[in-house]
Amino acid sequence: MDRIHVPIDKNFRTTWNRICHERPYAVWSSEHDGGLIYGSTVAIYIDACTLCMKCVDACPTNVFKLSLENEITPLYTKECILCLVCEIACPTDAIHVDRQGGSEETLKSLLGEV
Ligand code: SF4
Ligand code: SF4
Repeated sequence: MDRIHVPIDKNFRTTWNRICHERPYAVWSSEHDGGLIYGSTVAIYIDACTLCMKCVDACPTNVFKLSLENEITPLYTKECILCLVCEIACPTDAIHVDRQGGSEETLKSLLGEV
């Protein structure tokens, strides 16, 4: 299966298993999918990530960091302002941000719509 074209499962927070890793962010797995998702509020489906770095460049608060394993991680999720720009920037739909408490006005502001 060409995993590049499979977007992040937006229901992973309730349907995937949160597994224990020695990482500063949650790691999720699914028996049915076989892939991994890093993070909770800001989540990255690692198997769909092409390391294009667009999310890194687009995030206004520098949430993302490239790990020593050469994977994009949501290391600084606490800095997230829920603007959703990373979701829009990601060409493979590998990112999902939990909109709870999110700011559509912030997104519009960053897009120059207000
Ligand atoms: S929602 Fe905005 S602030 Fe949060 S990680 Fe994405 S681009 Fe960064
Ligand atoms: S924008 Fe998407 S594909 Fe590109 S590095 Fe970020 S998560 Fe990976």
